[in-house]
Amino acid sequence: MAKYIFISGGVMSGIGKGITTSSIGKILQNKGFEITAVKIDPYVNVDAGTMNPIEHGEIFVTVDGTECDQDIGNYERFLNVNLTTANYITTGRVYQAVIKRERNLEYRGKCVEVVPHIPEEIISRINKVAKKTKADFVLIEIGGTVGEYQNLLFLEAARMMKLSSPKDVLFILVSYLPVPKMIGEMKTKPTQHAVRSLNMAGIQPDIILARSQNPVDKPRKRKISIFCNMAKDDVISAPDVESIYEVPVNFEKENLGNRILKKFGLNQRNNKLKDWENLVKTIKTVKKKVRIGIVGKYFETGKFTLMDSYISVIEAVKHACWFHKRKPEIVWLSAGKYDPTKLPDGNRKAKKNLEEKLKNLDGIIIPGGFGSRGVEGKIKAIEFCRKNKIPFFGLCFGMQLAVIEFARNVCGLKKANSTEFSKNCEVPVIDIIPEQKALLKEKKYGGTMRLGAYKCKIKPKTISFRAYKGSETSERHRHRYELNNSFREALEAKGMVMAGINPERDLVEIIELKNHPFFIGTQFHPEFQSRPLNPHPLYREFIKACLKK
Ligand code: GLN
Repeated sequence: MAKYIFISGGVMSGIGKGITTSSIGKILQNKGFEITAVKIDPYVNVDAGTMNPIEHGEIFVTVDGTECDQDIGNYERFLNVNLTTANYITTGRVYQAVIKRERNLEYRGKCVEVVPHIPEEIISRINKVAKKTKADFVLIEIGGTVGEYQNLLFLEAARMMKLSSPKDVLFILVSYLPVPKMIGEMKTKPTQHAVRSLNMAGIQPDIILARSQNPVDKPRKRKISIFCNMAKDDVISAPDVESIYEVPVNFEKENLGNRILKKFGLNQRNNKLKDWENLVKTIKTVKKKVRIGIVGKYFETGKFTLMDSYISVIEAVKHACWFHKRKPEIVWLSAGKYDPTKLPDGNRKAKKNLEEKLKNLDGIIIPGGFGSRGVEGKIKAIEFCRKNKIPFFGLCFGMQLAVIEFARNVCGLKKANSTEFSKNCEVPVIDIIPEQKALLKEKKYGGTMRLGAYKCKIKPKTISFRAYKGSETSERHRHRYELNNSFREALEAKGMVMAGINPERDLVEIIELKNHPFFIGTQFHPEFQSRPLNPHPLYREFIKACLKK
């Protein structure tokens, strides 16, 4: 029988519920338990695929092709497992299923109501994950903040589960204790209110993880204990840390793992965190830097810069840097700023600005993207990397733009472009995948891209072959466009190597250039499969090349 741990958040968003959930999973996993984790997003969207990354953050893709929240990526990285579509629940998914069942007469003439039918559907989904994975612990992170309207039905489902199986369900509240500058003291009141909100939903937290800039001291623990009706030791200090990978180690310092086991009436167990502790040591001690530029466009929101849209790319870079015992330094280049077609004084100034920036970097990544904004700036960056032998790594869109750059500037096909942003393009070196055309015509946008893991055959004697140490791999995708095979010969004649091919569809998955320290583009997103203790082979080789620069 699985045990269920619900994790919800208090006070405000962005306090690290996802990392907390992943870290709780990690410490229990290191005690020898099987763990799975479910992310509940209260939005009405069926999945994250139709949302703008600036709005939502990265859209993570599972092996089976679900476009979901970046927290699924965090769980995968911490737990070193592949999760599937069942591990992701949204309001949209729940209602869609209930309405479909109603239309099929499966409620046998009953009036279908928000309560209990919606929570029942949520519970059945959580139970299905437990059954499918046979996990000892199912962690369920409820998105949003307690007290808001959106996640009430999910809290109701959690309450109902506790009611029917009190010994198998635990509630953890991740809360925040601010230290206002003008007072200089850590305040517990917002957390007290968060607990009240949870109480109103019929839930009493078993454990509070008290997030703050500093460790939570005894007087604060006592206060929370009295006002929130719980034991002092159930208030766990969770101060800000340098690296997210430190969180499980810190939790274990507070004996969180055994505390959870005790709550479930299970025997105490030792944990094996050694490898993880060594990783944290590396993260905290490495000094020599590698400077990696990421040319993207999904990070400006008002006066703030958010990196959320590229989280898997950032993590994959970090994993590879730590493997080589280097400290990653990521430099953000906003593609729009370098787009020569968008600047009043045109090509020269944009080009010069960009080149100044790029010269000081050890390697450049062009990540995934959609639409025309920033494209020409990215193409200029690729041209500079190609000509100046700066290690270049193009991911999906980045690969497509590398093909366009090469076609224009090496093959002399000046009008080369992608039909994604030049509909009647004369030289469509990147073109829509045929089966996608009909889908777009019928406005079937949600969940219809080429998604999830597909096989890739790798050509011997390429950098990719050396990196993967073999001739076959499987990688995750999210795209509608592809390299147009009718231009393959022209590109190859000028030295582009088609290093990876999907055997079923003869679709180019990896391109490489010869006579360059590292110039690789992948149609897939290798970052989704990188793990802290097992960096992705292509990222590993990319960083290796960057070290030589
Ligand atoms: N916009 C491109 C396509 O749909 C690339 C997508 C991506 O980078 N994920 O093919």
